[in-house]
Amino acid sequence: MRWRDQRRSTNVEDRRGIGVKQGAIGGGIGILLILAIGLLTGADPGAIISQIATESGSLDNTPVVLTAAENESADFVSVVLADTEDTWQTIFQQNGMVYQQPKLVLFKGSVDSACGYAQSAMGPFYCPGDQKVYIDLDFYRELKDTLGAPGDFAQAYVIAHEVGHHVQNLVGTSGDVQRLQSQSNEATANRYSVMLELQADCFAGVWAYHADTQRQVIEAGDIEEAMNAAAKIGDDALQKQSQGYVVPDSFTHGTSAQRMKWFNAGYSTGDTNSCDTFNAAVL
Ligand SMILES: [Zn+2]
Repeated sequence: MRWRDQRRSTNVEDRRGIGVKQGAIGGGIGILLILAIGLLTGADPGAIISQIATESGSLDNTPVVLTAAENESADFVSVVLADTEDTWQTIFQQNGMVYQQPKLVLFKGSVDSACGYAQSAMGPFYCPGDQKVYIDLDFYRELKDTLGAPGDFAQAYVIAHEVGHHVQNLVGTSGDVQRLQSQSNEATANRYSVMLELQADCFAGVWAYHADTQRQVIEAGDIEEAMNAAAKIGDDALQKQSQGYVVPDSFTHGTSAQRMKWFNAGYSTGDTNSCDTFNAAVL
């Protein structure tokens, strides 16, 4: 991605130097809320919760020293966020609406949000309660080394997906889905979650289209990096990796093929109308 000469966002909240007393706010309820909304992947929530249970209660006040690479990573994220602001501001305007920009919180290790206490093991997430995207930039190392999705545009896709959840929050889709889920059995609730997540992937694709056509930031190989990331975080890929088999009823984010398909649906059209995962004949 050609990003260095682009605009930076003023909506980045850098909390990487701030320790959080673990488990201080939210507790178990907050954790479940976060798992229900806005995560990038549906990977192994059980393992995440048990990790939180064993680590809670201690005070994390280790001084944080940021490396040059970490600061560059934060700079990059700020550019991607700014580009999503420009993209969604234009799209909202074209539809007679005003885009309220989300904040993006950088944290290290753990963080308090309006959705409760979160640890970086959960991966990046969006909290509708405070309209903020949360990311520990160490996730990008995991994305590259553990999940096999390297490249700056894979990283940009992650931010654009979470901003996609913010768009869903602004237009009321996530609220509608939560109401439907509360009246459904687990398998049906999971299907609603998949539709919501695939739409966030499609919105990430819509962003990529506009970033390219308006600001020409996309370089050779970028779209492949995003598509590869979408494939590597598909529910089937993650379940195969963690447990060796797949349970389709438990999918919450969609398969690799679906995540690639919907990112591409947004990218090839740049049109949010191509992101109607809720009424699609085939997901
Ligand atoms: Zn998501």
